[in-house]
Amino acid sequence: MKPKFRTIAIVPAAGSGRRLSLKRKKPFVLLRGMPIVIRTLKALEACGIIEAIVVASEPSCMKRLFTLVRRYRLKKVLDIVAGGRTRFESVRNCLGCVDPSFDIVVIHDGARPFVEKNIIEESIKLAAKFGGCISAVAENDTVKLAGRDLFVERTLDRGRLYRAQTPQVFRRDIIKEAYERASGTGITDDAGLVEGLGKKVKILAGSYRNIKITTKEDLKSAEAFL
Ligand code: C5P
Repeated sequence: MKPKFRTIAIVPAAGSGRRLSLKRKKPFVLLRGMPIVIRTLKALEACGIIEAIVVASEPSCMKRLFTLVRRYRLKKVLDIVAGGRTRFESVRNCLGCVDPSFDIVVIHDGARPFVEKNIIEESIKLAAKFGGCISAVAENDTVKLAGRDLFVERTLDRGRLYRAQTPQVFRRDIIKEAYERASGTGITDDAGLVEGLGKKVKILAGSYRNIKITTKEDLKSAEAFL
């Protein structure tokens, strides 16, 4: 059955990957022979409900990414746009290319190649229903709120803490407004901007395998997953 709404995915993949301290830029680091960003794009492409994908790339890597997209025959990648200095700017640049005929926008980090199809699909359904939905995992460690002097101010209630991941999925009108109104300071995910508008964001239980590859240790975990 055809969905009642049109869905597009945005993939910020313009990070420099400095924390990996490798010569190759993070999106192009190979995981069992395939670049990280291509694994991520393939996972999104396999999701039938997603019609199109826009990727943000470091300006100096756009041509290389374009070549890879063709080599791996990724048919849904509509556009590769220049990323910005921050993730916020990269996502904003992608949003600028989203046609108003799309109802739902899936934002997914290029550095999370292990996203599962059922999580993408379920978060799209929930975003269509509630306006916004993020995938997140329950916090397993006890989390302390610290003062600037590094003394504990208080212990947070672990039962209510979740670690936000992506996909983060929103109705297009909501995420557009959130990015237009954003001051861009201190917000590290898309949902934070939507919360700032006073809108509700639903949490979907995600997967602990859906890691964001940031450090060399993450890369080792990623290799172990494959
Ligand atoms: O920097 P962080 O680990 O939060 O990055 C999350 C995602 O945002 C990564 O996929 C990264 O490539 C992307 N990013 C971006 N533009 C930046 C910084 C990060 O697209 N300037």
